[in-house]
Amino acid sequence: MHEAGIAMSIIETAAAHLEKSGYGKVDSVSVRIGAASGVVPECLRFAFNAARAGTPLENAELLIEEVHVKGLCPACGKSFITEEKYFLSCPGCGQPGVRMVAGRELDIMEIEVS
Ligand SMILES: [Zn+2]
Repeated sequence: MHEAGIAMSIIETAAAHLEKSGYGKVDSVSVRIGAASGVVPECLRFAFNAARAGTPLENAELLIEEVHVKGLCPACGKSFITEEKYFLSCPGCGQPGVRMVAGRELDIMEIEVS
């Protein structure tokens, strides 16, 4: 499972951050996940909850911000947001070749320690 590896790397990153900070535990980790990143938020949450046992993130909460796919059409210059994972063509002018300018995010935004 793809999400298991991502959950592990989030935990490792947060644990390393915790060690550097000198605090005792991680309270929460905020991540931003794009709709086109290939990561399913529910799967990531499940994997995170399974993988955090016995780590300094044992009681940490995973806060997931989902980012919609945003496209920019080079033909007409319009930008738009979709619930889908991709664009086949521009919803404005119908031309193919829409550039994806958001939606592939897979970033740790914030790690709260105490
Ligand atoms: Zn267009």
